[in-house]
Amino acid sequence: MSRVYNFSAGPAALPLAVLERARDELTDYAGSGMSVMELSHRGPAFRDIAARSEQSLRDLLRIPDHYRVLFLQGGATLQFAMAPLNLAAADARVDYVVSGSWGRKAVAEAKRLCRVRIAADGVDSGYTQVPPRDGWDTSADAAYLHYTPNETIGGVEFHWVPDTAPVPLVADMSSNILSRPLDVGRFGLIYAGAQKNIGPAGLTLVIIRDDLLACARADVPGMLRYEVHAEAGSMSNTPPTFAWYMAGLVFEWLRDQGGLETVGAQNDHKAATLYGAIDESDFYANPVETGSRSRMNVPFTLAEPSLDDSFLREAEAAGLANLKGHRSVGGMRASLYNAMPQAGVDALVEFMREFERTRA
Ligand code: PMP
Repeated sequence: MSRVYNFSAGPAALPLAVLERARDELTDYAGSGMSVMELSHRGPAFRDIAARSEQSLRDLLRIPDHYRVLFLQGGATLQFAMAPLNLAAADARVDYVVSGSWGRKAVAEAKRLCRVRIAADGVDSGYTQVPPRDGWDTSADAAYLHYTPNETIGGVEFHWVPDTAPVPLVADMSSNILSRPLDVGRFGLIYAGAQKNIGPAGLTLVIIRDDLLACARADVPGMLRYEVHAEAGSMSNTPPTFAWYMAGLVFEWLRDQGGLETVGAQNDHKAATLYGAIDESDFYANPVETGSRSRMNVPFTLAEPSLDDSFLREAEAAGLANLKGHRSVGGMRASLYNAMPQAGVDALVEFMREFERTRA
């Protein structure tokens, strides 16, 4: 078997133990004689998978009882529209804090649906830092405040949770959910595409405070209403059963690692290893202000961009895959989600030092 260290931003690496378990259960799940992919979502075997998956997530994040967990489709991108459609009337004002390109996309979608006010925008810093809290222009009558705790492309992460009470806080946590402990009670709505820290693409996780479930506009179709999904146990229609099952395996794997405190400390250590290597060198650079650096997505550039292609080619040959930066920014990006082991980061740093030694 040959596995590489996969630094993709998403779909991203999954824990090998999870893939192996899925392989072992692939054609005969728990003596059913069927694959999970072949199980009826209404039958007892899948209902058990779904319930266990939700419970494991609740245990990991210590989700309070007055929050509902939804397993949806449509990606985080659909949540850019579902959040305003469900939480804000057409004439309502909503606040957005923008710290990078995903926040901008969320704004563009919300603008079609309600009155968006930009409470803060990191554009002046070139999106190299989280907009400082004291500069936010928020409104007490906003239906919610939306922000992006981790900007996957720019590598900018909030290391604190904004206090917006009584305005509900809405977070696109696609690229840093489950990367450390989280106080879910601070949020009104959390959403995340699965394909980074949760499981395969095709599943979208939503965690919503139950008093926000029934606020949707009257004309919002059923499939776009949180309340409908909550009442149906995320089975209003056929859910993405295999991705849901895989997410459950990932949650159990996280528990077996020691939970989010342990995983969070490992993530801190991985990020410190890579940023340390970048900072100690004149050949590599990361533009993000130290206090806003992402632990999950580390963009970096080479002093000589003409060497980018050989860097990527040689990294690939050394078993370090998907280091190419996002097409909008170029350079490199190493994504260090939960499934990336410290050994992968150590291998990357060793490769970077050797590349610098031979080229600089
Ligand atoms: N928000 C963030 C922070 C993301 O990183 C991504 C995907 N990279 C998205 C939203 C869009 O997610 P999806 O492709 O699941 O719609």
